[in-house]
Amino acid sequence: MKKLILLIVGIMIASIATVFVVNETLHTHQITDKSVDYKQQLIDYSKSCTPQECQVITEFTRFGQNEYQHNIEDIAESIRPILNCPNGAKIGTAILNIALQDGALNEDSQLLVLDKIATLRYKDNDLYGMIDPSLKYIEIAHESDDEFKVASGEFRLAIIITYFKGYDFSNNIISSIKYKDSSDEWKKLKTRATLSLAENKLAINKPKMALEFLENVDQYQTAYNEEDWRDYHVYLLSLRAEAYDEIGLIDKANQCLTLAQSELEKDKVNLLLDKHILIKVIEFKLALKNENYSLLEDKKEELLKIADRTNQIRFTKLVYSTLFDYYLKTNNILEFYNLNKRYNEVRDERQSTSYHLLISNKLKQNENNKLNNENQQSLLFLKIAFVILLVISALLLMMIVKIKYLNIETYTDPLTRSFNRRKFMVDYEGIIQKNHAFLIVDIDNFKTINDSFGHEVGDEVLEKVASEIALILGRQHHYYRIGGEEFVVIFTLIEPQACIELSEDIRRRVESLRWSHDLKVTISGGLSFSSKDKNTYKSADELLYNAKRTTKNVILNDQFL
Ligand code: GH3
Ligand code: MG
Ligand code: MG
Repeated sequence: MKKLILLIVGIMIASIATVFVVNETLHTHQITDKSVDYKQQLIDYSKSCTPQECQVITEFTRFGQNEYQHNIEDIAESIRPILNCPNGAKIGTAILNIALQDGALNEDSQLLVLDKIATLRYKDNDLYGMIDPSLKYIEIAHESDDEFKVASGEFRLAIIITYFKGYDFSNNIISSIKYKDSSDEWKKLKTRATLSLAENKLAINKPKMALEFLENVDQYQTAYNEEDWRDYHVYLLSLRAEAYDEIGLIDKANQCLTLAQSELEKDKVNLLLDKHILIKVIEFKLALKNENYSLLEDKKEELLKIADRTNQIRFTKLVYSTLFDYYLKTNNILEFYNLNKRYNEVRDERQSTSYHLLISNKLKQNENNKLNNENQQSLLFLKIAFVILLVISALLLMMIVKIKYLNIETYTDPLTRSFNRRKFMVDYEGIIQKNHAFLIVDIDNFKTINDSFGHEVGDEVLEKVASEIALILGRQHHYYRIGGEEFVVIFTLIEPQACIELSEDIRRRVESLRWSHDLKVTISGGLSFSSKDKNTYKSADELLYNAKRTTKNVILNDQFL
């Protein structure tokens, strides 16, 4: 019985522990499963970093989590010097993601970090990876009711979508964003949006529409200081040059290009990453129209390298188509053939990598979601199973305790707390075939005690005698109150002499008890040892009867009879 209770308590503890562990696992899984382990990534990068990269990583790891918020701008800025290092953008992405995950950043800082992460992913050609931070950016901007940031986020997303859904789709989104003219920051956003609309139109061979958009850009100049405006102006002029070229207005195109080039020379601010590339591409393109073949020859390798590397497929197409036209115009069939080969290879490689990237990301995401769902489901199932197990165990334990309690009450004498006659009958059946001895004791002249001192004193005597018997026997031998003032002791696995001594001990102890009343309590007993075909109980009872017929206060036994 005890073992069973222990087992059940064990199951309960195990269940509680498991529910706890499952909960913890579920909790930690939620953090790690849904995101990449950027800390591990950073550790991996730190094993093979350039000195500059290593320095950035070390500087970042010096910050404690609670310092991220305060130093977030410095952290973001510290990445700038390594942007052109082999793993610079990736290290930056990992650092900012760690800050985002662990830094308890406020909304503004989160937006700053998400913005930087998207830019770093662009630098790292991870176009697909730009989507998540951009969506998160919009979500937070919405939560903080910042219309400008919502619009900026949506604009960025529209630009990313260009790579996946094409120029028209992107323009639809850019046009649907709600812009305001209320402040300089809105005007700056409008500038970038309008330039993108024009560029997308150019990409789908609609130069006139592009020009219409470009006409609108100058009005936002007021929002910029001179240097910042020049940055956008170079881009604006380059796009105009491209558009004029497309509609055949070469002079105008040349004018715009020359202006753009002279502006670029004065330019010190470098906000637009693609500005230098665009102007080179347009310059290259116009060189063909201007029959400036030496420039084409000089620049073609540089331009091809740019074309093969850039995210802007538009630039790639512009460079290659210029060169195709050039070789056709100059009848250079061999170069035309080689270029065609290179173009096909680049296109195939790019399509397969971007396609592969896109597909693998999707697959990974699906797999993660599936795994997460499966994890959640199996963990939920485990949780329910353990809770059920816990409830069943608790019920079982309660039942066992109740049964045990009932058993105790059924077999216990309420006054002396010793076993009762019913228990004796049960145990009697169990030992009767084995070697045993019975001691039956009876309090002498108990009736007189009751009569002289009252029933309560009688009860006290019964309790005291029972506890003396218990004290002497210990846990090894059981004793029972089988009648009014009669007790039976069952001896098993013990030598007769030891039984006699124990019985005598009991008698002597009772005799020597001191009472508050003028009371003398003694007991008599019969001790009988089992042998073949002998009714030990009956013999013990007869011995008791004989003891009562003597002086009493004696225990008779039949060891030598
Ligand atoms: P003897 O020495 O021959 O055993 O004499 P005795 O007086 O003990 O004999 P008897 O067996 O006739 O007396 C038993 C008495 O025990 C009778 C009864 O009133 C009393 N008795 C029985 N149960 C209880 C009890 O629970 N409490 C008390 N106080 N007395 C009880
Ligand atoms: Mg008696
Ligand atoms: Mg009696």
